[in-house]
Amino acid sequence: MVQEDLFKKIIAHAKEYGFVFPSSEIYDGLSAVYDYGQNGAELKNNIRNYWWDAMVNLNENVVGIDSAIFMHPEIWKASGHVDAFNDPLIDNKDSKKRYRADQLIEDYLEKLQGKINKETEKAANKFGESFDREKFLGTNPRVLANREKIDKIHSRFVKALEKDDLEELRQIIIDCEIADPESGSRNWTEVRQFNLMFDTRLGSVNESASKIYLRPETAQGIFVNFLNVQKSGRMKIPFGIAQTGKAFRNEIVARQFIMRMREFEQMEMQFFVRPGEELAWFEFWKDKRMKWHLSLGLGEEKYRFHDHDKLAHYANAATDIEFEFPIGFKEVEGIHSRTDFDLSQHQKFSGKKMQYFDNDLNESYVPYVIETSIGLDRMFLTVLAGSYEDEKLDKEGADDERVVMRIPAFLAPVKVAVLPLVKKDGLPDVARKIMDELKLDFNCQYEEKDSIGRRYRRQDAIGTPYCITIDHQTSKDDTVTIRYRDTMAQERIPVTQVRDIVQEKVSPKKQLSMLG
Ligand code: ATP
Repeated sequence: MVQEDLFKKIIAHAKEYGFVFPSSEIYDGLSAVYDYGQNGAELKNNIRNYWWDAMVNLNENVVGIDSAIFMHPEIWKASGHVDAFNDPLIDNKDSKKRYRADQLIEDYLEKLQGKINKETEKAANKFGESFDREKFLGTNPRVLANREKIDKIHSRFVKALEKDDLEELRQIIIDCEIADPESGSRNWTEVRQFNLMFDTRLGSVNESASKIYLRPETAQGIFVNFLNVQKSGRMKIPFGIAQTGKAFRNEIVARQFIMRMREFEQMEMQFFVRPGEELAWFEFWKDKRMKWHLSLGLGEEKYRFHDHDKLAHYANAATDIEFEFPIGFKEVEGIHSRTDFDLSQHQKFSGKKMQYFDNDLNESYVPYVIETSIGLDRMFLTVLAGSYEDEKLDKEGADDERVVMRIPAFLAPVKVAVLPLVKKDGLPDVARKIMDELKLDFNCQYEEKDSIGRRYRRQDAIGTPYCITIDHQTSKDDTVTIRYRDTMAQERIPVTQVRDIVQEKVSPKKQLSMLG
């Protein structure tokens, strides 16, 4: 299947099975805003909880808070967002479509890299085992020409970003003959800076109301509470503060489903350390966060680090964790060494000391900060994309394919489905009893409509790891069938064991203990 088509299928599946709906759909939707349905809300909660457990519960020196979305407007001046939270915007004069200039260039570079990869794969297939990849990459004229092009443009691009040189960004677009991806036109406007923050008014009387912002990141809520948490929790450096919550960005081009939304959720942690120790802690958190991703079992080869081309003015190291979606590798999480920038700025703007007294060193300092920042919605999409499978079954019989969501059992929206084989002979009563027991521990679904095969398919499609089927034998010997989503294997087990068997399999304990 073409990868773009696979992505479309996943989006359609997410809607059909109650994971994600376009917001305000009956009014034709609202661009880049989405609602989570009955299964999506469960999955999102489970991902958020797994992050929280791994960050807050497992790390004795990390605590969690929940700060407000509205904050004092000075905060966004101090953090640099009012002046510099911009993206370079370019319009196409013919199509009237708006793009991010940096993304047009990045996509162009990616395309060139794609050509190299294709060329290499073609040669690898042709030469088979005798293929020497290194030599090919170092000698093939077409590969070398493309490599040279990439290096040249990339170096101009990085310099332009570093200097905020908007004219040069436009010139690169012109020189590379980059066309509007939709219309093919090369009739571009100038590049302008566009601030991504939404603003609104606080207060009931408009004239006296003051302009405030919807937070574009949750991090600042942590910084301004740094001393509150440190003092009330008697925290000693190094320590971290975590939180999850909504963030808002007026993205220029919002596309690719929940990858780039205007209202989204972040899961962030700021880790406060001694000045000079930040780069060692940066490595520490890079490693720890990658382990968290790998613990989901979606495939090690699907992840990579991508160091930032341009460091933000406040950072002295930054990397992204990227996941390979059907539309290519995309950032899911950023890990940044933010130096003492934010706390120092808040000290300056608020006039309040943001220092920590280090008993061991017998001195005060503004701590340095390592940030781990992951988008919950992108993580959700990672789980969807990593779990979706159109499976061909070589079984004889009616069904020869199924869509199965191989969501890790501990994240699955519904843990267990309780299914009486038929709607008569007292089976529903027995099934209800089992359901009433199980729902005290798990999110369960009871279903008695349709053939058992169709019910299994519906559960596969939402990723339910276990189905419990109650049949005529159940009333005779108190046993039920447990069916496993991934293998479709079935086993007969005593009713009394169902809870424990499911519990062991859907608990995140195993994954968490590997992270600990
Ligand atoms: P990008 O380069 O993709 O715009 P970013 O580098 O601006 O992202 P950060 O500011 O580092 O992103 O935000 C941290 C995380 O928040 C990102 O890794 C991503 O998972 C998530 N995120 C950022 N912007 C959005 C968005 N518009 N929609 C959904 N998630 C987002």
